[in-house]
Amino acid sequence: MDADKPLRRVVIIGGGFAGLYAARALRRAPVSVILVDRAAHHLFQPLLYQCATGILSEGQIASPLREVLRRHHNVETLLAEVVDVDPVRRLVIALRPGGSRLEIPYDDLVVTAGVRQSYFGHDEFAAHAPGMKTIGDALAIRQRVFGAFEMAETAATVEERRRYLTFALVGAGPTGVELAGQIRELATHTLRKEFHRSTPEDARVLLFNGGPDPLASFGPTLSTRAAAALTHLGVELHMNSLVTNVDEAGLTARRADGGEEHHEAATVLWTAGVAAPPLAQAIARACGVEQDRSGRIKVGPDLTVPGHPDISVAGDLMSVDRLPGVAEVAMQSGRYTGTRIRRAVQGHRPPGPFKYRDLGSAAYVARGRAVVTLGRVRLSGFVGWLAWLLLHIAFLTGFRNRLFAVATWLVAFTREIRPERAFTAREFETARDVYAAIKGGEAAKHAVTRLPGAGAVPRQTGEREQPGAESARATRPEGRRGVQGPPESPGPRDSGASGGS
Ligand SMILES: Cc1cc2nc3c(=O)[nH]c(=O)nc-3n(C[C@H](O)[C@H](O)[C@H](O)COP(=O)(O)OP(=O)(O)OC[C@H]3O[C@@H](n4cnc5c(N)ncnc54)[C@H](O)[C@@H]3O)c2cc1C
Repeated sequence: MDADKPLRRVVIIGGGFAGLYAARALRRAPVSVILVDRAAHHLFQPLLYQCATGILSEGQIASPLREVLRRHHNVETLLAEVVDVDPVRRLVIALRPGGSRLEIPYDDLVVTAGVRQSYFGHDEFAAHAPGMKTIGDALAIRQRVFGAFEMAETAATVEERRRYLTFALVGAGPTGVELAGQIRELATHTLRKEFHRSTPEDARVLLFNGGPDPLASFGPTLSTRAAAALTHLGVELHMNSLVTNVDEAGLTARRADGGEEHHEAATVLWTAGVAAPPLAQAIARACGVEQDRSGRIKVGPDLTVPGHPDISVAGDLMSVDRLPGVAEVAMQSGRYTGTRIRRAVQGHRPPGPFKYRDLGSAAYVARGRAVVTLGRVRLSGFVGWLAWLLLHIAFLTGFRNRLFAVATWLVAFTREIRPERAFTAREFETARDVYAAIKGGEAAKHAVTRLPGAGAVPRQTGEREQPGAESARATRPEGRRGVQGPPESPGPRDSGASGGS
């Protein structure tokens, strides 16, 4: 290889399962990788419900991306939210926290930005019914759930107490089922003896689902068993019920017979449906490609965007072969994409089309009860729960997190203790998103981005060169360009003034 030739730049948008596996597949490739994520951590979403219900801490399910990728010397991680892509100039356009703008040139682009909660056209429900996709969501749910038990304790009337002790969940997929089971468990075990005026065991958990069965994707046998386990726990199943309205008093659902019923509940949680984020629409528009009904980007058999062989989409955000949005699809598609790019750079034959190997799925129903599919094998009850435990230990990111999670589970499952019950008194909805642009002249103060190793980015006036910094720059891998403008404009492209809204 020509030593003077700059390394090919691969930009990965998103450090979820797909982005992480793509970066790992490129570890020994002669490329420089920039992984840009709006969060600084990789999140293990399948355990969000345990964070929300006080079993695990945020740190046990989220690992700093810098730490996870610290041994990947060709990978740089950046904190920014990507808002657009310019396929002609090969630029990724992002906002830094605070709203100033960042432009990142790429040779290959891998989009793995995942999906977000969908309220099926009723985004106004979100204020009353948080979804569960991020650490922020899990902490908001933790606040509402534990806060509701506190409010029940000081309720002025029986009706008010009943309202605070009613939890309504929308969606009986794995997340809804897991949350429903957890809330009943914490009411009947963890909190049972801690309150004096109210009785946590009286907590009602209502689970609403448009379809006829909970956990329908696990097939009729496991779905029936899950329904029985939930009923045994005291979860009230409202199947074939379409939620038509959510407000501060609770929700309204339409039954299969057409009748509508309002259910009073102080806490409503939403786990039904996903939609692509606005970035997908921006990419589809810029590349002239199709999106499916959920807004996911349609890709070809090699997971590239039709007409743009330098842009791939992997994980939840890709639409191909009706594959489900699960972690295993994300991992395999991310790894495939990283490998495909590595082979191309090394001059090897491209791999065949992407083929997903279904390794099964698992859902936790209650302590000692889970349902698991592994190929043709169907497990439930205690055996299913053991399989669930092993699968999650194996896939949880980072050895430290695995160790701590196992230790916490030992305590939580044997002694009914939930160590992570702290919640803040601040309303989560009022917290400003760090990517909302700073308005007016404020943004100008943040006009220049300075990034370590970015040769084109000027240092702040008066900033002292650290001893050895010059030589450190000189020893950086060849071609590892910093975040800067496109080749035709050598100066920094970061202009805070145009930071969006
Ligand atoms: C509550 C819950 C429970 C789940 N349980 C299971 C389970 O038990 N088993 C299973 O197989 N699957 C489960 N899943 C699904 C699984 O987690 C996803 O399929 C998987 O995380 C998808 O990986 P991804 O990399 O495509 O997206 P994600 O993991 O969502 O990662 C996307 C990343 O992109 C970043 N990002 C988003 N937009 C931008 C932007 N504009 N700019 C920069 N960065 C951006 C995000 O911060 C995030 O880090 C669950 C999901 C949830 C939400």
